[in-house]
Amino acid sequence: MVLPKTSFAMVQTAPRVLEPMDLPIPDIDADSAILRLEACGICGSDHEQFQGLLRTPMPVVPGHEPLGVIAKIGDRAAARWGVDVGDRVAVETMISCRHCGPCLGGSYHLCDHRRIYSYIPLTEAPGLWGGYAQYMYLHPNSVLHRVDARLPAAIAVMYNPLGAGFRWAVELPRTAPGDTVVILGPGQRGLASVIACREVGAGTIIVTGLAADARKLALARAFGADHTIDVENEDAVRRVKELTGGRGADVVVDVSAYATAPVADALSMARPGGTVVLAGVKGFKAVERFVSDLVVMKELTLRGAIGVTSSGYRAAIRLIESGRVPVERMHTHDFPLAEAELAIRTLAREIPGDESIHSTLLPPA
Ligand SMILES: [Zn+2]
Ligand SMILES: [Zn+2]
Repeated sequence: MVLPKTSFAMVQTAPRVLEPMDLPIPDIDADSAILRLEACGICGSDHEQFQGLLRTPMPVVPGHEPLGVIAKIGDRAAARWGVDVGDRVAVETMISCRHCGPCLGGSYHLCDHRRIYSYIPLTEAPGLWGGYAQYMYLHPNSVLHRVDARLPAAIAVMYNPLGAGFRWAVELPRTAPGDTVVILGPGQRGLASVIACREVGAGTIIVTGLAADARKLALARAFGADHTIDVENEDAVRRVKELTGGRGADVVVDVSAYATAPVADALSMARPGGTVVLAGVKGFKAVERFVSDLVVMKELTLRGAIGVTSSGYRAAIRLIESGRVPVERMHTHDFPLAEAELAIRTLAREIPGDESIHSTLLPPA
């Protein structure tokens, strides 16, 4: 495959500023590769990055949910990853060092020296470190997963949110068949959590959202949630108690963004001995009404969750490839890469009359 000399990319140069640029496609060594992007997923953190939060270095190529085809690959990289030119792969977000304590201890996503695709500045060679581009550089320490090339790219790229559902709502809280799970927040990660919990045979699944989330809550029910709660018009804690016969839920997963009330509620919703997973980021706000005695008295397990690791991604890719679940119902928008700003603002409800759930950026061919 002959590569062009440059790649079109959308580059974040300042908070809320994305500029189209043509960036040089680098030469590679025996250990790295170049990915030709087919799609890049958009998630809530893309909006925070766009706002200039999350300590984003700039200028930078954003986009940490890439799906693409290997366009060029070094011999050692091909042998190590077991892929070759033309293979479709999903790329994990984190690049770990493989040698520090956390890496050797099996927590490579907490690597002391971790780098994150889309958070490495353009000034650091070779610059193409993000998915808002036609081509992306694959660092030797990347983790890749093959994905069935017959799937539509916009569906295959859901490996990322679905992977979060498996890790946050199943793997970390050890959700078991029959468990009652409450999922706070019906965005793409909340919906992915419903799908993942259904896959492992959870008993009752309850999802909360705002009045404006009616469409997402309906989708949650379509994916197998037994009950949905509009927290603006119902007392969510009381409703969970009612639905669980006064006992509370085995597992509560918070995937809501910005709002802190769900964190306090989660402690009240969990049963004695239950597990609460906190995965929604709140912009470093303190949680009001956080009653730590509930954690003590009920011996709750509180678990933070950041990112997804290989087991979650693999479970997600297997599920997508199986075709068993109509995950495409979550996919609402495809945007041309040049309209990245519109894609981000649509997800963040900044565009009156439109709102996305799962959306993608598609690079020019
Ligand atoms: Zn993401
Ligand atoms: Zn490390």
